[in-house]
Amino acid sequence: MIMAIVIIILGAPGAGKGTQATQLAAVRAIPHISTGDLFRENLKSATPIGIKAKEFMDAGRLVPDEIVLDMLSERVALDDCRDGYLLDGFPRTVPQAEALDARLARAEPAAQLHVFNLEVSDETIVQRIAGRRICKSCGKIQHVVLSPPQVAGKCDDCGGELYQRKDDAPEVVEQRLRVYHEQTEPVVAYYENKGVLKSLDGERDPETVFAQLEGLI
Ligand code: AMP
Repeated sequence: MIMAIVIIILGAPGAGKGTQATQLAAVRAIPHISTGDLFRENLKSATPIGIKAKEFMDAGRLVPDEIVLDMLSERVALDDCRDGYLLDGFPRTVPQAEALDARLARAEPAAQLHVFNLEVSDETIVQRIAGRRICKSCGKIQHVVLSPPQVAGKCDDCGGELYQRKDDAPEVVEQRLRVYHEQTEPVVAYYENKGVLKSLDGERDPETVFAQLEGLI
């Protein structure tokens, strides 16, 4: 039997979690579970979860823990998670981290847990998010200056339309950063205290960060 692996990637919005998580999950052949993506999918299909989450997301605030935890427990109970999964954008509060610990202790006591933190300054975050564009079709993340599309407004991988997330607007980003410092930084300390945290310099180019991440597992 394969021992399950659970990978958590922490970091501020725009730290590179999505970019690293997509690659790492593909290499490891485990599902990439982004709670932000799950909320956006729910919103697109106008489910009760999506409708509830919208006001929080638009304001750059966190969706209440009960909603996030219900959505996440349903997702990780699916069959494709039996050998493990990678979490991106979760946990974002200490109660979420505690709930995950309780679940792992109950459901997967032998799982290998890897927690990474991508460290990036607030100045870099603001610059990265201002230029961030997402493909409507395949979800690829590009940047107007750092990874400019070959054809303006079109995804390099699939030609889909690139758009800017509503919550990437500068005034919402400021609020998201505040929320990150107040509510999510304590999660970094939580895993540090447990002795399982590995911090990486997320200011470097994505290939260099990825090589280090892979080496640490
Ligand atoms: P992201 O795509 O990870 O930046 O998430 C976008 C938005 O979804 C966040 O600003 C929150 O409003 C919400 N969200 C995503 N993950 C969580 C979480 N673990 N806890 C609370 N809210 C979340």
